[in-house]
Amino acid sequence: MDEDRAVPPATKRKKGEGQWALGYREPLNKNEENKKNDDGLNVRNRIVDIYSKAGFDSIDPADLRGRFRWFGLYTQRKPGIDGGKTAILEDEELDDRYFMMRVRIDGGQLSGEQLRTVADISTEFARGTADITDRQNVQYHWIRIEDVPEIWNRLEAVGLSTMEACGDTPRVIIGCPLAGIAEDEVIDATPQIAEIHEKYIGSPEFSNLPRKFKSALSGCTAHCTVHEINDVAFVGVRNAEGEVGYQAFVGGGLSTNPMFAKSLGVFIKPEQAHEVWKGIVSIFRDYGYRRLRHRARIKFLMNDWGPAKFREVLEKEYLGYALPDGPEPDAPLPRRDHVGVHPQKDGNYYVGFAPKVGRVNGQILGVIADLAERYGSGRVRTTAEQKMVILDVPAENTEALAAALAEHDLQVHPSTFRRQTMACTGIEYCKLAIVETKQRAMDLIDELEKRLPEFEQPLTINVNGCPNACARIQVADIGLKGQLVVDENGDQVEGFQIHLGGQVGASFGKKVRGLKTTSAGLTDYVERVVRKYDEQRGEGETFAAWV
Ligand code: SF4
Repeated sequence: MDEDRAVPPATKRKKGEGQWALGYREPLNKNEENKKNDDGLNVRNRIVDIYSKAGFDSIDPADLRGRFRWFGLYTQRKPGIDGGKTAILEDEELDDRYFMMRVRIDGGQLSGEQLRTVADISTEFARGTADITDRQNVQYHWIRIEDVPEIWNRLEAVGLSTMEACGDTPRVIIGCPLAGIAEDEVIDATPQIAEIHEKYIGSPEFSNLPRKFKSALSGCTAHCTVHEINDVAFVGVRNAEGEVGYQAFVGGGLSTNPMFAKSLGVFIKPEQAHEVWKGIVSIFRDYGYRRLRHRARIKFLMNDWGPAKFREVLEKEYLGYALPDGPEPDAPLPRRDHVGVHPQKDGNYYVGFAPKVGRVNGQILGVIADLAERYGSGRVRTTAEQKMVILDVPAENTEALAAALAEHDLQVHPSTFRRQTMACTGIEYCKLAIVETKQRAMDLIDELEKRLPEFEQPLTINVNGCPNACARIQVADIGLKGQLVVDENGDQVEGFQIHLGGQVGASFGKKVRGLKTTSAGLTDYVERVVRKYDEQRGEGETFAAWV
């Protein structure tokens, strides 16, 4: 039953939403209690001093399924447990003795040395696994607790970490992979991302938020950081006086009750960005709803307050000054990724390529590091669409680089399907999953490339392993939400609920009643829909408009 609806309004008011600023400091649920008992950041010392030495069985359950997240660690799903058991089994029964580990790569920026380190860790400690996530992180699997301190040492030696990669914290700050590079960017947000990271990530001031907090800062004209679905996003704009700065968007998020972020209508100078970000995350900490986990994202607060009140509280209670009004950013481009060969402002080129659904491995990452050094300067970027970009390639090297990448199935000129299909972790490793996603999506791409070789229109296909939104199904043209469905023999099998016509910032996909497919029937279904769209679409008509 929906816990929120079960509480009569009067009781609800008395009990409050657990907002600290209104005096509700006592924990109203187990998660809040755990956070109050001990700061998630303190688990690092226990991992180094105790758990990594005494082994998996020595781990306190409150750390294992709670505070480990503050350092990017989740237990992974025990292999072989089918999706029908996901909702039935207890956490302990689903837990494997290995971990998923997320490395935060703020702004998606990697030097050659950093990429090589990430690659080597994958090979040595993660059975070769490495996925590029849609928040520019790298995600490993099969991590043993005994190896965590050594992995951290290696990451930290090159300026990377897993700190606050998960948990109720300010997670990785995403940025345009071409920050400082692209000819047409409004502003390079790299210094502001670095400043926020340095001042506030790992600070006890923000290590107990009501829930996760996703940030994006970018001056990209394609809007590749999808500011509309971040908790907070600063988007590069130019004001009437010709100064560059940022517009702030707050309260975007998918999952249950998807909402697009709302503009605060302000103009933020680059040097103010860190304190405005601090003010916004402080509002979330102090006024955010903590009673129910599924209402604890900042989008619910924004939805109740509206942007005018949010701005007023920000200015009066947190900044102590008013921000001037600012312009809205230009509309995004139809494809927000950075795939292909494009000019940089220094005369070199950047080369964006598409691993299928972000799946790479340690060996391939090593190859990418080699190629980036051979053909460019060594600098590499991850994107918020599970893709990668090699920077600083002289014009005469671009073709050779594209050919060398293609030898490893990394396409610089991919099909629409390879370019615009994303998939979450799914049942392979995720304890919440009901169905397989990564391999299913890779098979789907291969098959659609064979069946529809001429199709070139922009079209996003996002595959989720459960009703959550890690692969953003609500904003995909074809969003696939993993669930059990009944096949023609009456058996329960893996399948998908289909959402059609989502578009970031414009519309959420429509869930057509009864529109489901089994996993086995998925390719035929998608082929049929895409063929129909291709036959019927008018000139320039997008899938979302057509559907
Ligand atoms: Fe796991 Fe569901 Fe997120 Fe996929 S969408 S990674 S299955 S929680």
